[in-house]
Amino acid sequence: MPVWDTPDTEEKLTTGTADTIKCPGCGQNIFFDAALGKLVCNYCGGAYDPQTKELSYRLEKKDREDADMEESSNHEIVCNSCGSIVVTEKNTAATFCAVCGSPALVSRRLSKQFRPDFIIPFKVTREEAVDKFLKFASKRKFVPSSFRSKATLQKVTGLYVPFWLIDGTCHMKVRGEGRKNRTDDAVDKYDVSVKYDFKVKGVPFDGSKAISDRLMEAIEPYDYDELKPFSNSYLPGFYAERYDLTALNMSERITKRMDLYAGQYARVLCPEYDEFKVEQNESFADDLSQKYALLPVWFLNYEYRGFRYGFAVNGQTGEVEGDMPVSAMKGFLQKLLFWILVIVPVAAVITAVIGTAVWLILTYIAQIKLAIDVIFPFFCIFLLITLIYLYYHGIAGAPSFLGILFSGRDLDKNGTIGRSIDRSIADLKTRYYNLGNEINMLLDEAPEVQQYYEGIPGASIQKEETFIGSTQIER
Ligand SMILES: [Zn+2]
Ligand SMILES: [Zn+2]
Repeated sequence: MPVWDTPDTEEKLTTGTADTIKCPGCGQNIFFDAALGKLVCNYCGGAYDPQTKELSYRLEKKDREDADMEESSNHEIVCNSCGSIVVTEKNTAATFCAVCGSPALVSRRLSKQFRPDFIIPFKVTREEAVDKFLKFASKRKFVPSSFRSKATLQKVTGLYVPFWLIDGTCHMKVRGEGRKNRTDDAVDKYDVSVKYDFKVKGVPFDGSKAISDRLMEAIEPYDYDELKPFSNSYLPGFYAERYDLTALNMSERITKRMDLYAGQYARVLCPEYDEFKVEQNESFADDLSQKYALLPVWFLNYEYRGFRYGFAVNGQTGEVEGDMPVSAMKGFLQKLLFWILVIVPVAAVITAVIGTAVWLILTYIAQIKLAIDVIFPFFCIFLLITLIYLYYHGIAGAPSFLGILFSGRDLDKNGTIGRSIDRSIADLKTRYYNLGNEINMLLDEAPEVQQYYEGIPGASIQKEETFIGSTQIER
């Protein structure tokens, strides 16, 4: 069965036990969602308090109806590989999936209506996006040269990604320790409690299974001043993905970030402390509501040695992000350089020390006269054995090797000397040839709460501080 024929499994996504309680909103059965601590209606998207049956919030499904005449100018393209569905204008064809890069596509008439509430139109042009990708690559280490090739850059595609923009009310309740540095090298400590209610607006969550959440968080934020009512006229030349996760499907992820935001603002409210350490956090968010919006992203899918790497440029602000692989050839050359500069000299020193000792013993003590051209091949063989040993045991194995050679006993049995050598080597590696993991992982974190903060008129900050004591700083 092709992946797009999978029946709507949303009903099963909410875990919990069957409950005979009917939804106060629509009369369907509702289920208790343990992760959310709410009774959830999969039909109308209502989330209810288990005790009072009062509505906590509603995260609706959108685009439920069949497509009509208004949408006959569009068609949808289904990716057989990642399962994503993009909607575009009838005359816009596709040769590869905008989301995953696969060429396995099927085109068909619109299955359901496609009516996002809002859209932010593309502001960054294709040329600018390509330029951003190239600049991004130039800042990373050992980028495979095929990344800059015409074939790769031709794949840069403009995709409108479906987002749920979530509004909510945050209830902050935080206790922690505030520290104030004094001029006389002492620190005053306070026990601080803060309570405060505020709103967050438009926190974005992408409704696409195939698109990396981390990547989308990394190119935040968008400027919502440019949010326009959706119109089909924005589609030609671009693709717009259909959501395959409703906001309700994602409510665990959503509430997690909203709850985090509720507590995060405490630091903003406590600027009088040089340090503020949260010790108790009972903050949470509720009263969630959603907007269904398409946000512009330039995508680039890049395949390297059997792995796919995704890159994205925020189509409004131009912020670029992605995980870049390390070129195998360049990685090899770096390793080679490391061997030439570090490992071979170490082996040569070992050989020279041992060789000189053996030569001295033979010529002076044993009175055996040996020409250098007789002993030299033995030195070479010995150097080779040393190198092979170091290759398998690492340089950290050198003390053991020397111990066995000279005394017949492993003098570094516990590996103490070996470990300290290992540490110095690791330091050297991170400084001069950082290939610890084979990817340049430099994705940004999602913005902090300030980005989406909005005050509630009349809300007051309840702050209590108790002086605990002072400590002298050791100098
Ligand atoms: Zn309902
Ligand atoms: Zn795909």
